[in-house]
Amino acid sequence: MNQKLIEEQYETLGISKEVYAFGEKIEQELKERFEAIDAMAEFNQMKVIRAMQENKVSAECFSQSNGYGYNDLGRDTLEKVYASCFHGEDALVRPQITCGTHALALALMSNLRPGDELLSPVGKPYDTLEEVIGIRPSKGSLAEYGISYRQVDLLEDGSFDYENIKKAVNEKTKLVTIQRSKGYQTRPTLSVARIGELISFIKEIKPDVICMVDNCYGEFVEEKEPLEVGADMIVGSLIKNAGGGLAPIGGYIVGKKECVENAAYRLTSPGLGKEVGASLNVIQSFYQGLFQAPVVVSGALKGAIFAANIYERLGFPVIPNGTESRHDIIQAVTLNSAEGLIAFCEGIQAAAPVDSYVKPEPWAMPGYDSEVIMAAGAFVQGSSIELSADGPLKPPYAVYFQGGITWYHAKLGILMSLQKLYEQKLVNMDCLC
Ligand SMILES: *Cc1c(COP(=O)(O)O)cnc(C)c1O
Repeated sequence: MNQKLIEEQYETLGISKEVYAFGEKIEQELKERFEAIDAMAEFNQMKVIRAMQENKVSAECFSQSNGYGYNDLGRDTLEKVYASCFHGEDALVRPQITCGTHALALALMSNLRPGDELLSPVGKPYDTLEEVIGIRPSKGSLAEYGISYRQVDLLEDGSFDYENIKKAVNEKTKLVTIQRSKGYQTRPTLSVARIGELISFIKEIKPDVICMVDNCYGEFVEEKEPLEVGADMIVGSLIKNAGGGLAPIGGYIVGKKECVENAAYRLTSPGLGKEVGASLNVIQSFYQGLFQAPVVVSGALKGAIFAANIYERLGFPVIPNGTESRHDIIQAVTLNSAEGLIAFCEGIQAAAPVDSYVKPEPWAMPGYDSEVIMAAGAFVQGSSIELSADGPLKPPYAVYFQGGITWYHAKLGILMSLQKLYEQKLVNMDCLC
């Protein structure tokens, strides 16, 4: 392929020669890292195929079920595939689980009983879980049901506070929740190996405690998943990594048989459990999405690393930095000005396959103390495995961005963000010379 032709394609989309050249220079330097990511995708692709073969996925699995959904072969087989793929005894993978928060709430509420205590040894959990737990008072929270909560923050340097974790585990501690991804915090994301160390430590103190991992944004980033290092239950969303961009809804819980069973009885009803829950017409997209997920995740990872290196070179603080190893697909870039943040989001939006012609505007969102700007031109509403970015309009004007169903789209999005910053003279690209 003639490089000139590719460059012309970018030009027709609005990327100037200067921006394109800058991107090419950075991409050249990332060859080795991209190769490592491709190798990870290859490894994980085989893992998924093997899980599908082992469980005899057939064309019959794609037929629709309705009503009660008794004997839904597609649904039941898919749950076996998830169990094999992520090394659990059983799985619950359902369109009736509406999002990641719902999956996490379900896992918690079904495995905790009044009088039990929940412990987070890795600091504050994801925002939406504050209401699930009752850290912020909310109707139907765990707190309302008499389930208490304890938290041990990470130490200044990001390491586990083993001493205080040991003190926090008591006779009431029933479940420990460990969030793999940093989400929208500045702490480092936890590698699967570190999660394993933490779980070993906790199980030594109290062997029968349930260790749950919030696996959102982490699936297929590494060769191992948390159940392989001692977790009892992993939980995630299908409109993030595991759905491969194709699942239009859904969440999963994989792990110990008893944990999954509890969750199933809570999702449907005591006595019914996994037996009901028609998969309607979405089941094929769950299979195909999982099948594609390792490659989709690799594209998102390349995009994150590309952006980190571009903006780091231009002098903006980035988390993770350009050379750090990756344990999730989220990238934060501190743009230092409102204009920079807005321009960045405009670029991501302008590069989208859907709604590229709309301009994202900052707006006052409930629950935030400043305006927020969001860019997303997604096939699935709110899907964050698709290229998306958002940030609060207040200092230090950090944007969080993630996703990209294909590496090429992620690349265009990042170049377009740079283009918008360049046009407004908010960046100086001389630094490469
Ligand atoms: C996205 C996310 C959630 C919540 O998922 P939703 O689908 O947005 O409800 C929870 N935890 C982490 C770490 C996440 O990234």
